[in-house]
Amino acid sequence: MATERTLSIIKPDATRRNLTGKIISRFETNGLRIVAQKRVKWSKADAEAFYAVHRERPFFNDLVAFMTSGPIVLQVLEGEDAVAKNREIMGATNPKEAASGTIRADFAESIEANSVHGSDSVENAANEIAQCFGKDELVG
Ligand code: ATP
Ligand code: MG
Repeated sequence: MATERTLSIIKPDATRRNLTGKIISRFETNGLRIVAQKRVKWSKADAEAFYAVHRERPFFNDLVAFMTSGPIVLQVLEGEDAVAKNREIMGATNPKEAASGTIRADFAESIEANSVHGSDSVENAANEIAQCFGKDELVG
């Protein structure tokens, strides 16, 4: 296993319900370290650029509207196998299918408002981190 970095987003449904701290503690207690962190509100252009891979999906416009509906918390998490570990801590996209004890099983409202994002590969993580943070914002 290698030390990796992955991009995490705490989504608007979670910030709205004051769940930021509870979600962050899941990452930290499972061995991931926060090496960058900021609370922002995305523009439509920001969300469209981030989710460009989903441009052709039927839920794209709703997803962009949701991700711009309130503040989000962007984080870079670091640790052994961080990409896969973060997705394990998050649980499946659809909270109805998420394993018990995962963030999405415990907090998500729906398949769209599912509380967190996590990069799905090391390569995508590097791209997403570069999209969201400048090099001087990463403090490992
Ligand atoms: P994320 O990329 O946010 O970590 P994911 O990798 O588990 O989630 P993706 O397939 O990449 O899932 O979908 C991106 C996001 O789009 C989901 O997290 C969810 O918010 C939304 N989404 C995915 N599938 C649906 C759907 N069928 N209906 C509505 N929204 C969806
Ligand atoms: Mg994804």
